[in-house]
Amino acid sequence: MKKTDVLKYLNNINGEVQDLSLKVWSNPEISGKEKESADLFRKILKGHGFELKEIDGMEHAFIAEYGSGSPVIAVLGEYDALPGLSQTVDTTFNPVEQNGPGHGCGHNLLGGAALGAVLAIRKYLEETKLSGTIRFYGCPEEETLIGKVKMIKKGAFDGCDIALNWHPMSVNTALENAFLANNSIKFRFNGISSHAGQSPEAGRSALDAVELMNVGANYLREHVIDKARIHYTITNAGGAPNIIPKEAESWYFVRAPQRKDVEEITERLFKVAKGAAMMTETTVDYEVISGCYEMLPNKVLFDLTYKNMVEIGGPSYTENDLAFAKALQETLDPNMVEGEIKKYMSPDSDEKKYIHQGVLEKEKVNSVVVAGSSDSGDVSWIMPMNLLLTACFPLGVANHSWQATSSSGSSIGMKGMTYAAQVLSGITFDLLKEPSIIAKAKTEFNKRTEKRKYISPLK
Ligand SMILES: [Zn+2]
Repeated sequence: MKKTDVLKYLNNINGEVQDLSLKVWSNPEISGKEKESADLFRKILKGHGFELKEIDGMEHAFIAEYGSGSPVIAVLGEYDALPGLSQTVDTTFNPVEQNGPGHGCGHNLLGGAALGAVLAIRKYLEETKLSGTIRFYGCPEEETLIGKVKMIKKGAFDGCDIALNWHPMSVNTALENAFLANNSIKFRFNGISSHAGQSPEAGRSALDAVELMNVGANYLREHVIDKARIHYTITNAGGAPNIIPKEAESWYFVRAPQRKDVEEITERLFKVAKGAAMMTETTVDYEVISGCYEMLPNKVLFDLTYKNMVEIGGPSYTENDLAFAKALQETLDPNMVEGEIKKYMSPDSDEKKYIHQGVLEKEKVNSVVVAGSSDSGDVSWIMPMNLLLTACFPLGVANHSWQATSSSGSSIGMKGMTYAAQVLSGITFDLLKEPSIIAKAKTEFNKRTEKRKYISPLK
């Protein structure tokens, strides 16, 4: 069985994969609630002869395994949606359900391509009887940045040699660097309640502490590295104005390109919180509810991924696809669209500038900044991991938008998903055929983690 035969087989089962992806898209379930989505994946994988393993205490996480012996290759699949991003496949804002959830990050495609790849590789292992194990990882709770962090803590990735990972975006490329490391922290202040008119002197306001902490955090911004991000909301601000709030809570994210910076800034934020508590004579408790790492680069896997992307080549689009993309672009800020066209398309290209086609030139790869966070970053710190993006949205469409939900249910999304499945299959084919690539990726990984080991952000 040659690589082209594996891709041919993938093409034969593509209907089944698309069908699943659309079912998941039509029934968007947010982080922690992905029951039916996870079950849809389980059912298909079981039907194709995969052995299912559950993960203790995580209802919507699972491993589906096929084959035997080494290498053990993990393909990461996600399927959670986002709150408030409900949208039909349309070029105007038109939610299925007002404020309902929607697949605004394309995880219906993310899981779909991972599924397609493992099904194709299953066929390859069956036909060739090669040594090797392929695992589909059903990873819930990505949008809350915690699913894989918990799975790592539970040892779910033990025994894997390599992890393969991709994400829907508006560009076709492999990446070495991605994701900001992150801490998500809740600060709970506790004071003394009192009548705000009658006896304010007897009260100690937890809300004052929250507000003073925010002031401190906003001054802290000037004294952290440029690329750090600090954002917050107030999740409990007390009740009626005539009652001095006994309890108040704020929720912070601290992000930076490297985990060590996040940890340092978090420590300083703790001091700000303690200062606010001292000023207001309240007390403060904090809880790191999740945290994750930036992606650890792996040049060996980057090269292999890029090579497969070029070798396989991206999808082509119909006039309808292009018209749909153009109409969606017209709903966006023209600067966003122009910005991405300039960044990703060659200036002399006569292609229609609605969807990124071909693979981004190698010298431009570093211009792609994925400034969100992902719990996939943590996986890259426990074994070598790659990352590829495919164009599932028109140029200019950002993840976490209604336009992204619309694209994720459209034929543009389906084509991006199919391309990702092809590339993941191609990479796995190469790894099984030439295990020396895995050895090289591991040597690089060991070197990079020699001085910095993974420590779970969770207690
Ligand atoms: Zn995502």
